[in-house]
Amino acid sequence: MAGFTAARAVRGLDSDVPIEIYTREPYHYYYRPRLPDLVGGEVEPEDIIAFPDDWYRERRIDVRLEEPVASVLPDDRKIVLEGGRKVGYGSLLIATGADPFVPPIEGSTLDGVFVLRTMRDALSIRERASVSGRAVVIGGGLLGLESGRGLQRQGLSVTVLETADWLLPRQLDRQAASILLGDVRDLGMSVRTGVQVEKIGGDGSVSCVSLADGTDLPCDMVLVSTGVRSTVGFLEGSGLEVDRGVVVDAGMRSSASGVFAAGDVAQFAGMRGGNIPVAISQAEAAAVGLAGDARGGEAGAVSYNTLKIVGIDVFSAGEIACSGDECREHVYSDEQNSIYRKVIVRAGTIVGAMVVGSRRGVTALNSLVQEAADVEAWGEAIAREDFDFGKTQ
Ligand SMILES: Cc1cc2nc3c(=O)[nH]c(=O)nc-3n(C[C@H](O)[C@H](O)[C@H](O)COP(=O)(O)OP(=O)(O)OC[C@H]3O[C@@H](n4cnc5c(N)ncnc54)[C@H](O)[C@@H]3O)c2cc1C
Repeated sequence: MAGFTAARAVRGLDSDVPIEIYTREPYHYYYRPRLPDLVGGEVEPEDIIAFPDDWYRERRIDVRLEEPVASVLPDDRKIVLEGGRKVGYGSLLIATGADPFVPPIEGSTLDGVFVLRTMRDALSIRERASVSGRAVVIGGGLLGLESGRGLQRQGLSVTVLETADWLLPRQLDRQAASILLGDVRDLGMSVRTGVQVEKIGGDGSVSCVSLADGTDLPCDMVLVSTGVRSTVGFLEGSGLEVDRGVVVDAGMRSSASGVFAAGDVAQFAGMRGGNIPVAISQAEAAAVGLAGDARGGEAGAVSYNTLKIVGIDVFSAGEIACSGDECREHVYSDEQNSIYRKVIVRAGTIVGAMVVGSRRGVTALNSLVQEAADVEAWGEAIAREDFDFGKTQ
């Protein structure tokens, strides 16, 4: 996402500069949010690949598929490919994203245990699903739920396990998540929260997941969806400042001259993005510097998410709970209609919002969060289901 976006933006700024993309993937840029649909059989690989070869050729963006980068030599302004070949650069964007994090659970290397990050992962999961009846998903975040739904669409019975006390603990509070839990169960998925996985059992191939409370959940496949870690291993020895991600400033500049980072691999102000709006905003900011503008760009997007399961409305942007002084939570709860809305305001400025069970005003709310708008004038009415967002424009 970040690499593709930056390349396109650089070409928009400079029609001549040579642009090369090196990727370990065998496919051109594709839309990761549709991977659960690929698992579910609703789309095929060609449906989610954004652009064909010609698109890149016409824009003179030279994409080298299946060419992993093994290391970076900032002092020499070179990258080293896995075969050992060195390639020089004028400026470099590191946009290697993130890899799934699998906690050290016994049995996690058994046949039938999967993660979902790439097209290849999705196709392997789908293949296994075609000969399976029961799946366990470890992790009740956005990806775990969406993938669980994909597996269910393949006809499997699905159990989702979450260590926290509620689903989507990074996007929702307890009350919002309780509405979601009802919706997910209504779809026929089984959910257990507040559980610890003890081990994944099986003789060569997975056959059950054992919980710390002694429960055994028989299954034919397991999907581990417990977060990601920035893909920074290949930068060891490069001299670049790397913490959990590549440390960058607001213009996406790393500690080395001419080297930028954007997307899931970048760490700005101690935070890593982890989603598409942030990756796009950072890539566009990085493009300004990559194209040689010494003033650089500035990334500004705030994380926001929606759950992509048909029939379930969940939106969350920015902060999910109050912290610090002068912070207020405006909450609207309509239990009868299973609607919950919360807006978080600090010193008059909106810093977060969540809506479950409704889509009303979600786009407007998101714009207000992205703009860090002053919403003081509307007080707690801004959280109401019938609030007229026309007033805010
Ligand atoms: C199934 C799924 C669903 C998602 N749904 C959503 C959603 O609905 N909304 C949302 O906002 N976000 C979603 N995300 C997260 C979103 O996809 C990421 O935040 C986004 O893709 C980050 O973009 P990126 O360019 O930083 O990383 P990526 O898109 O991961 O791109 C990094 C690329 O670098 C390649 N690479 C890594 N190391 C090397 C190397 N050494 N050499 C060469 N190439 C390398 C990788 O193979 C990959 O192709 C989802 C993610 C997944 C996996």
